[in-house]
Amino acid sequence: MQTVYSHGQPRLRPVWGESPQPSSRPPSASPTPATTDLSYLGAQMEDGTWRCTFPSCNSKNSYERVCDLRKHYKRHSRHLFCRHNGCPKSISSGFSSRKDRARHEARHNPTITCEWEGCPRLFSRMDNMRDHYRRVHQKQSRARK
Ligand SMILES: [Zn+2]
Ligand SMILES: [Zn+2]
Ligand SMILES: [Zn+2]
Repeated sequence: MQTVYSHGQPRLRPVWGESPQPSSRPPSASPTPATTDLSYLGAQMEDGTWRCTFPSCNSKNSYERVCDLRKHYKRHSRHLFCRHNGCPKSISSGFSSRKDRARHEARHNPTITCEWEGCPRLFSRMDNMRDHYRRVHQKQSRARK
């Protein structure tokens, strides 16, 4: 029987940049390495298993071994997220390849030019452009005498 946390250390203590004191650690209390550098991967549960704590991860899996958690976590680091603020794809789900992301981001990228000659405006959607065209240029041309 092995009681790892017999000295009353809180198990889910968040460790943010706290410098651990190696000398204060019991030398052979646990075979796993210090939890300090693993806190970014996941949290250790009551029963000693690990869970992913990646912000947008909805995996309920728990991992007995840290290396399994690490394997799972790699999926997140591979994910690429939309770089447009406010896009649901920028937080909830990402893309596994740059190609996928580029295709998605093209939706945000304004690539439609205004039909009015010399107008520098760019639009991501045709109807936006037409709307702008009507509002700005047709008015202008009407005002012109
Ligand atoms: Zn995860
Ligand atoms: Zn997006
Ligand atoms: Zn225009």
